[in-house]
Amino acid sequence: MSSLLVVGSVAFDTIHNHLGSHDRVIGGSATYASLAASQLAPVRLVGVVGKDFPREAVDMLRGHGIDTTGLEVANGETFHWEGRYSDDLTSRETIKTDLNVFADFNPKIPTAFRDSEFVMLGNIAPQLQLHVLDQIDSPKLVIADTMNLWIDTALDPLKEVLKRVDILVINEEEARQLTGFHHPLAVAEALRTFGPDTVIVKRGEYGALLFLEEDIFCAPAYPLKAVSDPTGAGDSFAGGFLGYLAENGHTDLRQAVICGSATASFCVQDVGTGALQDLSRDHLEKRIHDFRELTCF
Ligand code: AMP
Repeated sequence: MSSLLVVGSVAFDTIHNHLGSHDRVIGGSATYASLAASQLAPVRLVGVVGKDFPREAVDMLRGHGIDTTGLEVANGETFHWEGRYSDDLTSRETIKTDLNVFADFNPKIPTAFRDSEFVMLGNIAPQLQLHVLDQIDSPKLVIADTMNLWIDTALDPLKEVLKRVDILVINEEEARQLTGFHHPLAVAEALRTFGPDTVIVKRGEYGALLFLEEDIFCAPAYPLKAVSDPTGAGDSFAGGFLGYLAENGHTDLRQAVICGSATASFCVQDVGTGALQDLSRDHLEKRIHDFRELTCF
């Protein structure tokens, strides 16, 4: 089993949704992705928090086998994101992004992490994603996520990142924004011209589409009776996806996409990282089995 490096945000999130307001819950792209991947492979986390980040939260990550050697504790406050969801949870607006210690984040990959074979560049500034790649010896597989903020403000460095990643995982709205196309095949074709061989377009409650050179695969989202909080679903998808590949040492991307969808389906069942913290391997396997039943005809 190979080690998996996750770089991204570690945060306090304040979330307003149909269940009420949830103040300063532990979140961040790297937190969700690491917890998700930790079900499948040893995870190495690189990020930054402030002095206000609770010791118990770091212990919780360690308790999931996540190596936090690369989690820098800087002078100042932890990154804080605040968002409000629509009642049906299909859209959200960002109310506040307090970068705090994240503003000066300069990811340093510990020497012991530089041989990481599987790398996830979570949602951080593309300039920082490039800096991370410069510090990794010879990764087998690099996946990257991004968001509208970087498409708007850092398009050139983002294009440099795309030249160096194997798989881009991006949500549908942002994929359309980045390419200027609307329909899935046109979007995927345009994204692949930026560099990545493989593109995964996340479609929220409608699942995900995997585009390879000669193949397309469509994974549903797991049908649920209720969703508590979609925050981090995309990062959990990416963590479950890459975790599967790191564990199995091969590139059965369809299986990996199902593993990502199954992992994300747990994430949304509780507020913040609650459901991922409680997830067991047995539950994950059972849900992957359910996916098989759900999609087989
Ligand atoms: P997702 O719901 O998958 O888009 O991810 C939500 C997570 O992204 C939250 O836990 C936030 O802390 C984190 N996040 C929000 N904005 C940013 C940003 N500008 N940079 C890095 N992480 C962010």
